[in-house]
Amino acid sequence: MTSKTRHRLPVNFLKNSIVILSTVIFFGLFIVDQASAWGPMGHSIIGEIAQSKLLPETKKKIREQLQTRSLANIANWADQVKKRRKQKPWHYTNIPEGILEYDRRRDCPRGDCVTEIIPKMAQTLAKPRASLKDRREALKYLAHFVGDIHQPLHLGYASDRGGNRIPLRYRGRNTNLHALWDQGLIQRGGKSLVQYARRLNCNRTVSIRLKNLREEVIRWGLESRKIVLNSVYNFNVKSGLSPNYITRSRVILNRRMCKAGTRLAGILNQVFAFNRR
Ligand SMILES: [Zn+2]
Repeated sequence: MTSKTRHRLPVNFLKNSIVILSTVIFFGLFIVDQASAWGPMGHSIIGEIAQSKLLPETKKKIREQLQTRSLANIANWADQVKKRRKQKPWHYTNIPEGILEYDRRRDCPRGDCVTEIIPKMAQTLAKPRASLKDRREALKYLAHFVGDIHQPLHLGYASDRGGNRIPLRYRGRNTNLHALWDQGLIQRGGKSLVQYARRLNCNRTVSIRLKNLREEVIRWGLESRKIVLNSVYNFNVKSGLSPNYITRSRVILNRRMCKAGTRLAGILNQVFAFNRR
């Protein structure tokens, strides 16, 4: 090794370190951002459940009018466009700590939170004179946001960004509370989405009157909120997540996905029952 190369080594080493460090920071930020919504799997499972509960005429109208064959396939689109369209607040509603009550003036003064967006999208979808583009987008937003409102931490606290700022270790990996409830708790165990959705045995169907949709949606949000207040934060930060916490949370999450899929189908069956086009 010449003295020249020996002299250069530290400079190259420094350069390489900066490149590696920037890459780590970049991907680190990317992962945190990705964690800020119910994971792709959760939304797809909800889409599958809903699809299985659509009435034949609803399925036909969605296919023929909106060229959509699978709700699971469109259920993640809203997450893909949220940054570009500056729609991040549409995906959650923050409520101050300790409160089990939704107050629009306090919690969503601009009407751009998940609790207010769902009824708006259902209205657009049901509007006979809305453009095809708007109705297709409304379907995609609905398929996503009905999922989001059932993920408890989408009705969380602004102070920890819905659990995104609560770091955790789970199955030997670093994660955070929001990501755990988004996807960490969903264990497919080699099953396909369809198999997973079937295994949840969501037998009920519901009929949701569009006239009452806003009240219904707020009720769904408060169910999520109750889980946040009673269960989601019930672990010791120092000792980490107990097996009991994981088991109980998994049961809750599976129930929420079931409800989300059932209710999404309930909305769509109503919208298309009255749609004469
Ligand atoms: Zn979302």
